[in-house]
Amino acid sequence: MSNTLNIHSKAITNNSESPNVKLKSINFGDCKWTSGFWAEKTKTATDVMVPYMGQVLCGDVGHALNNFKIAAGEKEGEHQGMYWHDGDFYKFMEAKTYVYGLNKNKKLLEELDEYIRIIGKAQEDDGYLQTQIQLSDEADRYENRKYHEMYNTGHLLISACVHYRITGQRNFLDIAIKHAELLYTMFMPENKHYGRFGFNQTQIMGLVELYRTVKESKYLVLAEKFINNRGKYDVVHDSTTEGYPIGDMVQERTPFRISNEAVGHAVLALYYYAGAADVYAETGETALIDALDRLWDNVTTKKMYVTGAVGQAHYGASASRDMIEEGFIDAYMMPNMTAYNETCANLCNAMFSQRMLGIHGDAKYADIIELVLYNSGLSGISVEGKDYFYANPLRMVNNTRNYDAHKDVTETPNREPYLDCFCCPPNIVRTIAKVSGWAYSLSKNGVSVNLYGSNDLNTTLLDGSNIKLSQDSDYPWKGLVKLTVEECKNEAFEIALRIPGWAKKNVQLSVNGEPTGINLKPASFAKISRNWKAGDVITLDMPIETTFIEGHPRIEEVRNQLAIKRGPIVYCVETPDLPANTSILDVYFPHKSELKANYNPDFLGGVTTITTELKIRQDKDDALYHEITKPSFEKVDVQLVPYFAWSNRGQAEMTVWLPVLWE
Ligand SMILES: [Zn+2]
Repeated sequence: MSNTLNIHSKAITNNSESPNVKLKSINFGDCKWTSGFWAEKTKTATDVMVPYMGQVLCGDVGHALNNFKIAAGEKEGEHQGMYWHDGDFYKFMEAKTYVYGLNKNKKLLEELDEYIRIIGKAQEDDGYLQTQIQLSDEADRYENRKYHEMYNTGHLLISACVHYRITGQRNFLDIAIKHAELLYTMFMPENKHYGRFGFNQTQIMGLVELYRTVKESKYLVLAEKFINNRGKYDVVHDSTTEGYPIGDMVQERTPFRISNEAVGHAVLALYYYAGAADVYAETGETALIDALDRLWDNVTTKKMYVTGAVGQAHYGASASRDMIEEGFIDAYMMPNMTAYNETCANLCNAMFSQRMLGIHGDAKYADIIELVLYNSGLSGISVEGKDYFYANPLRMVNNTRNYDAHKDVTETPNREPYLDCFCCPPNIVRTIAKVSGWAYSLSKNGVSVNLYGSNDLNTTLLDGSNIKLSQDSDYPWKGLVKLTVEECKNEAFEIALRIPGWAKKNVQLSVNGEPTGINLKPASFAKISRNWKAGDVITLDMPIETTFIEGHPRIEEVRNQLAIKRGPIVYCVETPDLPANTSILDVYFPHKSELKANYNPDFLGGVTTITTELKIRQDKDDALYHEITKPSFEKVDVQLVPYFAWSNRGQAEMTVWLPVLWE
């Protein structure tokens, strides 16, 4: 697109020249949170999350930088960590790069330069860079997909592209290019051995970003090739696949373009779908977008939790009877206590939706981004910013699960300061650090407001004209948003404000105090097109009420239960707020109970809690089945806390869904 000014190439996902994208990304750093929820989370990311993670990963506990040092010949020792540890270090570097992009602290840049120097030295002459293989006699390069080489590659390419865009430096990018060149020579020729690679396919997103960065079309061709390879080969174990389930687990039973159902490992699936969306953004192939639409619908209307979380089971099976780990099972099968809901999967759900938002320009995708961010994404990290959840169940009951059986992995009753499988922590931290880059998009002649919170936007429209907006809001605790035009062009343009799906009642939108008369439909953009001038004020008032949420009747696990939601925030009951020794399984919700919201600035980092009256069941019986006449209850006043903020007060029991007493 030679006639377009490519001045928006510094975005998280640089779709500035992607022909099939309606809403283009803003350059990272053009939006900065100024106060409120995301400003505080970003500050925690800057002051605590990233420095703490740096200590862990660059020290002997995390050992991630050590792996590169050893491969570079600068340290003695052995590889430690999972096969995908390199990739998780690249994600940490990406988080650190975003923080640098926001505060331009030179020290961060120098530290990144030092990591990059070591990584460059660890890279082999032909571009290969995988410390889990380089430092081990266990396997040769590209021998078996279980070694996660594609995953590490993807995060290397993404992190390096982001680093180049934000810093303008080529040192990391050059490593990525050298690596991608090797990938092309290995994986482009038709070959069954390599054709079944791509266990966790972040390399597709990475290759498209690299294509966008250096304009080398073969990277896009290779990205598409990885999609085309899926479903091409017989689903039987061979030397490249041993070690993990095959088939639907890895989305290789059905070719992408005829897929109707989200299957398999949820992180694998959603990184794959996000990558396919990136490919579609460039190629515009109808079969790809049709499949993406079907898969997005399937995920969000049949297999997603009320928190935006995905991946219902640690172990299960697909409809084709393929074994599934950490992934999707049947539609409407939504266990709460045993829900896996890996933080990465939830964040991938937002990443997939962020790409679909760009492609279709439809606000329903931003609703999913918001749902994940405020609930199943943020639940992956403590309020303090140093402890992590990998699995994000919707109900936690102590002593009912054998956590030791899973202790080599991921399901923990408490947040942990380090996880041996470290994929989720840098994923949530990089997401928190980059949310400002998702807050706005650029439309054909204007700007869309995707996420709310106080911030300053200083960017250019697609025609190159300057625009400055300031947003003032206590979102998500309050639904009032004030958007002031600080600077803009003289010609008319459009400002589109997202009306969230939850904002169903009494929403009002005015400009300079005058109602706009626009039909304010939930889950849509309200588009105001006019001649704007500095000083114009848009006021969007979305009264936030506390609401009850009911699940589809086919979700057996939530029948006659409700969840409590206020705006985008899902609430839960946690045992620190109940009388001592109360089991979460004995808590019931009398439907006539009043719900009172209170903002508590000094509690859990500043949250709105909800106080209400619950009933605690008094009669107990431990038998598998027993006769019952009428249960007895005791009333108790309780505060509900946002789901994302649970497990910050010691080990606790928790539930999102509450059985209802219809009185
Ligand atoms: Zn993860």
